[in-house]
Parts: sequence; C-alpha cells; structure tokens
Amino acid sequence: MDCPVCKKSMLVLELQQIEIDYCQNCDGIWLDAGELELLLEDTQEKQKLLDSMVVDPNNPEKLRRCPKCSKKMDKVFVGQNKSVLVDKCKRDHGIWFDDGELNQVIELGSVDKNNKVIQLLNDMFAHKLKNK
Ligand SMILES: [Zn+2]
Ligand SMILES: [Zn+2]
Repeated sequence: MDCPVCKKSMLVLELQQIEIDYCQNCDGIWLDAGELELLLEDTQEKQKLLDSMVVDPNNPEKLRRCPKCSKKMDKVFVGQNKSVLVDKCKRDHGIWFDDGELNQVIELGSVDKNNKVIQLLNDMFAHKLKNK
C-alpha cells in the first residue's frame, strides 16, 4: 500500500500482533478498520475515545485519499477536546494517523498513559528523536 501523503510504499510492521502500515518518509501510520480497537485496552477510556470521534465537515485541510479505495477521506476529530484530527475512510477501510497522532490517540484511550503499546510506539520513533 502507498502512503496517502507521500505516495511511497509503506512498510508493514507488527505492533502487538497487529499488522500496521508505516511510512518511513513521513512517519505516518495506517490502521485498517478495527485495528485501533484492538490496540486499546478494554476500558471505559476506550469507549469514550471511540464515542468521541466526530467528522469535521468543513475542515480546510487538504483531504487525503484512502490507500485502499483512493476515495477522499473524512477529517475526524478524536478526544473529548477534539485534540487530535485524523483521516478516516468514509467507507470504513481504516484510519490514517500523521506523525505522532497514533501515540496521542492511544494515550487518550488508555487508563495507563504509559502502557505497552505507547512504549512500543515510542521505541519505533526513537530513531527520530535521536536525530533531532
Ligand atoms: Zn508518507
Ligand atoms: Zn477506503
């Protein structure tokens, strides 16, 4: 699959036995439908997070195309304070997270803000932090 931002082919990585698509160029991550749910622990925070997702119909940002169906994706707010904006396929193929957004979303949806998935993601991006 190609990155919806840079159009370069993405790497398939494994995170907690879940295959995710990762773009080395822009550090964005694609999750297929249902994968975000799998990455979150089954808690109230998870449900709050999933319930908080709302489409922003008038977002001025350029709409990206779904890497699976090539249709334009919706801009979707995540979090009670609409703190993160992700791209979600209208046909529910999955969700695109720009650099660092997946970490933010998992943190919002977790009771333990330093859980295993967050640590794994931090490790994944550690190379970048070193270069700064
Ligand atoms: Zn990219
Ligand atoms: Zn799609």
